[in-house]
Amino acid sequence: MNNPPRIGLTGGIGSGKTTCAQIFMELGIPVYSSDDRAKQLMNTDPILKSSLIGAFGFETYLSDGTLNREFLSKIVFGDPEKVKQINAIVHPAVRRDFESWAKKKHSVPYILQESALLFEIGSHTVFDKMILVDAPIDLRVARVMRRDNVPKKAVVARMSKQWSSEKKRALAHYIIENDGHRGLIKQVINIHLELQELRIPTH
Ligand code: ATP
Repeated sequence: MNNPPRIGLTGGIGSGKTTCAQIFMELGIPVYSSDDRAKQLMNTDPILKSSLIGAFGFETYLSDGTLNREFLSKIVFGDPEKVKQINAIVHPAVRRDFESWAKKKHSVPYILQESALLFEIGSHTVFDKMILVDAPIDLRVARVMRRDNVPKKAVVARMSKQWSSEKKRALAHYIIENDGHRGLIKQVINIHLELQELRIPTH
């Protein structure tokens, strides 16, 4: 049986990806949340767990088998090479997990993968279309400060690891402007209607 087209849903921190993903889900579209799954897989995927232990030692996991987040945060703090090392272990595991999730999806017009870093890690090339959610930077900062109860500098530090909006806008097929002025639901529905008509060779 053929699988539906795969659509990437991305955007910088606080742009509103998760909010848009929820609207797509309301429309009946299966959404794979990379962040949520990555967190789960780090506790459950045996290959991923043994790779992390191989790289950072047994302290990476607590005695109950769950990830020792505090230990890992200390290791990566201020060390971009260590962040890269973790990503090089986690991203392929998420990719494998997405593949097996996607293969089970039939009878839907398309499926979505939501992730902040699809362009940054070069994986946008595997999607049939890319949707970017974007918003003015000040608004994104304010939204995340409120949502996570964190100071501005913490949000800016996370943003600095992501591509600029301009760079992403140039590569996106669809852009959702989540600036608080243009209706979000209407924009999502319009893209949904276009994606339903997609005629792309299936996977
Ligand atoms: P992250 O990359 O940090 O996971 P995100 O892109 O998934 O962020 P959301 O979590 O969807 O962003 O949105 C960030 C915050 O802004 C949330 O608290 C959300 O409720 C709020 N928000 C998103 N869009 C709007 C909007 N149009 N109006 C008001 N608040 C909004």
